[in-house]
Amino acid sequence: MRTITLGRTGIQTPQNAFGALPIQRVERAEAVRLLRRAHEGGMTFFDTARAYTDSEEKLGEAFAGIRDQVYIASKSMSEMPEKFWNDLHTTLRNLRTDHVDLYQFHCVKQCYAPGDGTGLYEAMQEAKRQGKILHIGITAHKIGIAEEIVQSGLYETLQFPFSYLATDRDIALVQACAEAGMGFIAMKGLSGGLLNNADACMAFMSQYPVLPIWGIQRDSELTEWLSFFEKEPQMTDALREVIERDRGELLGNFCRGCGYCSPCTVGIVINQCARMSQMIRRSPSAGWLSEAWQKEMEKIDRCVQCGACIKRCPYELPIPSLLKKNLEDYRAILRGEVQI
Ligand code: SF4
Ligand code: SF4
Repeated sequence: MRTITLGRTGIQTPQNAFGALPIQRVERAEAVRLLRRAHEGGMTFFDTARAYTDSEEKLGEAFAGIRDQVYIASKSMSEMPEKFWNDLHTTLRNLRTDHVDLYQFHCVKQCYAPGDGTGLYEAMQEAKRQGKILHIGITAHKIGIAEEIVQSGLYETLQFPFSYLATDRDIALVQACAEAGMGFIAMKGLSGGLLNNADACMAFMSQYPVLPIWGIQRDSELTEWLSFFEKEPQMTDALREVIERDRGELLGNFCRGCGYCSPCTVGIVINQCARMSQMIRRSPSAGWLSEAWQKEMEKIDRCVQCGACIKRCPYELPIPSLLKKNLEDYRAILRGEVQI
């Protein structure tokens, strides 16, 4: 397993890290067990966020007493210094620690800089001066903002979506980060659950100087990622074929399932309904065809085109039309007109 150095933070960790968003959905004792098992299996870098409800608390419980054996990254979505400090103090309390290794501005709409009037970058610097955070990072979903962040030279790490669906521009961003001495943390390595071949995902990542944080919530998923410490998948012609086929099917305007567009004005579960066509074909379909999901999909007809979701989607997707397309496909599948 390759070791990644996260740019000038100097943090060194195996290229196989834990994304702690999904453990929000796992009962506490089980989440703690998964986190400890990940650490015992070789993972040393764990990424969480203030916005992931009780994820930080679960990390705090899992690593109490062995805090110095792991790197913990967290994030704040605050847009004001006062809220930033509240978030940071809550993070430290939840994690049962006096410092976070990496603190990141979460899903930013702009590149915060000293003197920009927000006071946020100054707050981050002060937190670092006080030793409450060791390194300053940032996460973004829009490529233009990510490029601006790299050019700014203000951040030690960038977290950005990166998977084998990456565009040439995304790959250039990885290279620019490396040249700027910034660590690159790859989120959404499975593209929000659309990619289901872990070997292909890992083999792709290992070609780049990036740290993937795999979102993990099940034992079986963890077993798969931990198995790569024993035997790392190599890029083969067969895996290249998988990647090319998926790229052919998925590139373009597809929903990553991130949920940033929520809540919908009329209660549509956008982050599942806007990618139902893919999910139904790429994971066992029975669950998606249940009565409960049929009801959820039918809500799409209630869309009032208010546009609230579009403003919040980091990928600027045309959500109402995407939803409509998914509903038409779903109905055709239910009528047996389309084979899956
Ligand atoms: S445009 Fe439609 S899908 Fe989006 S928030 Fe409004 S009602 Fe919901
Ligand atoms: S529509 Fe956009 S914001 Fe909403 S889940 Fe999909 S990618 Fe995320």
